Amino acid sequence: MTATTEAYAAASAKSPLTRFSFTRRDVLPDDVKIDILFCGVCHSDVHTARDEWRGTTYPCVPGHEIIGRVVAIGCNVKKFKEGDLAAVGCMVDACRDCRSCHENLEQFCEDVVFTYNSPDEHTGGVTYGGYSTNIVVNEHFVLRVREDVDLAASAPLLCAGITTYSPLRYGKVGNGQKVGIVGLGGLGHMAVKFANAFGAEVTLFTTSPNKTADAKRLGAYEVVISKDEDAMKAHAKSFDFILDTVSAKHDLNVYLNLLKRDGTLCLVGASPNPIPLDVFSVIRWRHRLTGSLIGGIAETQEMLDLCAERGITCDVERININYINEAYERMLRSDVKYRFVIDIASLK
Ligand code: NAP
Ligand code: ZN
Ligand code: ZN
Repeated sequence: MTATTEAYAAASAKSPLTRFSFTRRDVLPDDVKIDILFCGVCHSDVHTARDEWRGTTYPCVPGHEIIGRVVAIGCNVKKFKEGDLAAVGCMVDACRDCRSCHENLEQFCEDVVFTYNSPDEHTGGVTYGGYSTNIVVNEHFVLRVREDVDLAASAPLLCAGITTYSPLRYGKVGNGQKVGIVGLGGLGHMAVKFANAFGAEVTLFTTSPNKTADAKRLGAYEVVISKDEDAMKAHAKSFDFILDTVSAKHDLNVYLNLLKRDGTLCLVGASPNPIPLDVFSVIRWRHRLTGSLIGGIAETQEMLDLCAERGITCDVERININYINEAYERMLRSDVKYRFVIDIASLK
């Protein structure tokens, strides 16, 4: 019997999210069905619900920081049984047979299926995300969650966590390095925690002076107000690695100028508007300007296990689903400490 799934959806780029119901596919042999307990609110949800990146299909049910309990499994499923905790991040499928899939980098598969707003071969529509009561996902894309973790505070690891963990690992950030994090939002606050946990000396760049004390509590050694030109100049040519998590158009050249020779500026923030580049800020000191997209399934599991082991969680504000539109507005005002997480019980 197929039960209805309750959700919140945007009906157009201009409409607030409102209640919506639909039907998930029946559980296939390799599928896990999860009753969702918590879903984090990522800035990508706002970009997509409001069609800021173009290409949103409506109705749009966002949400890709999902934790819940397994309520049904298909006959081939090995990793999970009913009653287990489980999590789903930004991807729910991929071809499983290309170079990226074989290298455990499913996020770069040409056929990757994102958790929401991707073509869904099972329904003929688009995928619907975690602002909903349940989800059905192929077990390869379902992560294991330890019973002893704080579930609400772990949900944002599924996007904000892996999106910052992966580039810091790939960039070999660690002891003896001076690392900058730009923006203290959902991604930024996890980046500060991870870079600090990996042994780097962390500087946070922020536009919000009132976040200074929090940044230090989260692991920043120093906080620089990015609008303060003198403070920025004092750090010229001193960073090994800077991770930029900013969600809107801003000046990248100022951060390139803070890198040492051969230093790296890695972008994860996904401004909908193009950003001008002064090529001399890259060529003069052989800087690297790179980007990173979430992380593969194996690395996401590694990050979840490490966080459970070391007690790393996200700083969250729990909300009911009917607060979601206000939460979006607050996120746009950089007023979130530091991730909203929806208690999905409020949808039932
Ligand atoms: P968020 O919680 O809203 O944090 C963004 C932070 O950026 C803000 O808190 C603010 O920090 C800073 N900021 C915002 N507008 C700014 C502006 N105009 N100039 C300078 N700084 C500004 O967002 P999030 O959920 O962390 O997501 C951040 C970005 O990453 C979004 O674009 C999202 O779509 C993208 N993203 C990318 C990936 C990926 O795989 N690459 C994955 C997830 C999300 P301060 O107050 O400290 O200045
Ligand atoms: Zn996200
Ligand atoms: Zn593939």
